[in-house]
Amino acid sequence: MNVGFIGLGHMGVPMSGRILAAGHDLIVHDLHREAAAGLLAAGARWAASPRQAGAGRDVVITMLPAPRDVEEVLLGRRGLLGGLAPGAVWIDMSTSVPAVADRIRAVAEAREIAVLDAPVSGMAAGARAGLLQIFVGGSAQTYQRVRPLLEVMGDPERIIRVGPNGTGYTVKLMINLLWFAHLAATAEVLTVGVRAGVGLATLRRCLLASPAASHFLDRDVLSVLRHGDYDDSFALALACKDLGLAIDLARETGVPAEVSALVEQIYRRARAQYGDSGGEMLPIRLLEDLTATPLRLPPADPETMPQE
Ligand code: NAD
Repeated sequence: MNVGFIGLGHMGVPMSGRILAAGHDLIVHDLHREAAAGLLAAGARWAASPRQAGAGRDVVITMLPAPRDVEEVLLGRRGLLGGLAPGAVWIDMSTSVPAVADRIRAVAEAREIAVLDAPVSGMAAGARAGLLQIFVGGSAQTYQRVRPLLEVMGDPERIIRVGPNGTGYTVKLMINLLWFAHLAATAEVLTVGVRAGVGLATLRRCLLASPAASHFLDRDVLSVLRHGDYDDSFALALACKDLGLAIDLARETGVPAEVSALVEQIYRRARAQYGDSGGEMLPIRLLEDLTATPLRLPPADPETMPQE
């Protein structure tokens, strides 16, 4: 396939790298040309604008930070929609919102350009391994057409068409909202328990064997507990963006979202404290710093530790 890819950040570089390695013809674009250096060295070509990235392409993928960037890249001056020919497909894999894509889709479909939303889970490591989880919103026909391309980036078992246009974004935002809520709750529980005198490994083991267990406590939190790694491959600025978009959806649907609002405030505090590019797990450190209680497991394998 002739593929265009716009947005070469933490996710876009490994995702487009896999498309290139799979033998597709690839043209790339980003605000910063240096972001494309590795891809160009590996055989991709550079487009000077989103419009150029669309010319002669069967499919163009965007992987951009926020809805306003998606709107700018598609509808702005020298925008992608001006470059795509009838019959082409635009896939937005950014974490964005249905409302923005609806506005773009109204213009696109009048020009016979098909549109899918296909946001992802799985972090930069999943993007490198081609094991992303992908949630697709849009027509079944367009989905079937591009599925082989999605399989280059995602785990075939976890690439799912979740419904019509916009539903992919919604699923992705709900996943992130729940994950951030897990993080905030887990940070409090671990800090209170340790401050009250229970060893961290014991507390975690008991929680994992209880009805309060979670995948977050079992897997994701280990990077902090073992290595003090707060995952700066997903920036706090993007986490706050996702929480804001999820709360917007709650507002639009008329659903009270009290817990979510509090989680958003915690994330905004972490962003103010540690900066835009700090890692998504830094809200844990807010409590560690505030209470002078570092949450670290002993160096030996905590899974097999009988005692503290
Ligand atoms: P990033 O900030 O690392 O990269 C975004 C890239 O888009 C940058 O290279 C930036 O220069 C480029 N860009 C911004 N505006 C542009 C414009 N107008 N024209 C051309 N290029 C432009 O972001 P990321 O971490 O790769 O995330 C991308 C998207 O994927 C976000 O929506 C994010 O929420 C989502 N996401 C990220 C992760 C993760 O672990 N990092 C996981 C799942 C989903």
